[in-house]
Amino acid sequence: MTEELHLDTLAVHAGRDDLAALGVHALPIDLSSTNPLPDIEHGGDSYESMATGGHPDPAGGMVYQRLWNPTVARFEEALAKLEHAEAGVAFGSGMAAMTAAILALTAGGGRHVVAVRPVYGGTDHLLGTALLATEVTFCTAEEVAASVREDTALVVIESPANPTLELVDIAAVVEAAGDVPVLVDNTFATPVLQNPLDLGATLSLHSATKYLGGHGDVIGGIIATDEATAVKLRQVRAVTGALLHPLAAYLLHRGLPTLPLRIRAQQASAEIIAQRLADHPAVARVHYPGLDGDPQGILARQQRGPGAMIALELVGGYAAAGRVTEHVKLFTHAVSLGGVDSLIQHPAALTHRPVPPEARPAANVLRLSIGLEDVRDLIADLESALDAVAGD
Ligand code: PLP
Repeated sequence: MTEELHLDTLAVHAGRDDLAALGVHALPIDLSSTNPLPDIEHGGDSYESMATGGHPDPAGGMVYQRLWNPTVARFEEALAKLEHAEAGVAFGSGMAAMTAAILALTAGGGRHVVAVRPVYGGTDHLLGTALLATEVTFCTAEEVAASVREDTALVVIESPANPTLELVDIAAVVEAAGDVPVLVDNTFATPVLQNPLDLGATLSLHSATKYLGGHGDVIGGIIATDEATAVKLRQVRAVTGALLHPLAAYLLHRGLPTLPLRIRAQQASAEIIAQRLADHPAVARVHYPGLDGDPQGILARQQRGPGAMIALELVGGYAAAGRVTEHVKLFTHAVSLGGVDSLIQHPAALTHRPVPPEARPAANVLRLSIGLEDVRDLIADLESALDAVAGD
């Protein structure tokens, strides 16, 4: 019944189709770590189906939470609908989701991954240190075609990219990748602003910790994809134990109805703040999608808005950046992003610390996550901090 509905309606209703039959209105939380088995044969069949990435056999039940949980499955269904995907597969964190994607897609033999920098520092770290026995070629979006090899299993991109908001032309990368599946980290845009699968990508990954959760109180990850890829991801999840806890799934699903409103309100403030910061004498440059007029037309082509993340370069360099983080009062100096309250952090020192120096964000860059506070108060807080370092 939810197939034809618009985004805001889906955000409220998706993944709740079975509630009326259960006689409940709010999302139920099922915390069972294990489930009663009807008999050996059906229980065993269901176990085998789920351990190989399938669904539970209704006659055999869910067996064990590492294999299946209905609270998690409802959140997965909702996010899949918002992403125009056949399936969603949820994980204990965004990095668990990224790990599962790499394991699932390299299991076929090819161990080469192409990644367009910049990406989140944790992703860069995971790929660059070859912890998963992959070989990675980091490149620009224009170099993807030349970087893809016979043994390339996956192309990883992030758009807008963490931390400096570069936009990658998703459809162009998909074309350059040929038969190789493209994974887009869609954490910054969310399905409210961008649907990578509509542009030809195979996987859309979220650190659900960020905008999907939106309240800074849950860690999770989710991938929206086709059912065949979902089978591989669920198998990896079942075998490696990278599951999302049902309480986290409940919080994430509970937050979805307000996601479109939150994103639009946070984005409206970010647009004003980005403009204001660009005029401040302590700021050398503001990175915000569309602030430069979108010369390549990527923003207009693939996003429904620029989002609510901003990066700024300070004239006064690393020292000034540090002082700004100490001076702000409303912005919390903390990593993470996408919540209802505004955050500020220094990517080179923190989120992107594991990135090799030559690819690390510059030392004068600060990243802002704009929250739901009154934009006038946020501007006053930032300007007061920037005034304190003007002339440094
Ligand atoms: N992708 C992006 C763009 C991120 O910003 C992050 C975390 O900051 C991750 C993935 C990893 O997510 P998690 O911290 O939920 O593991």
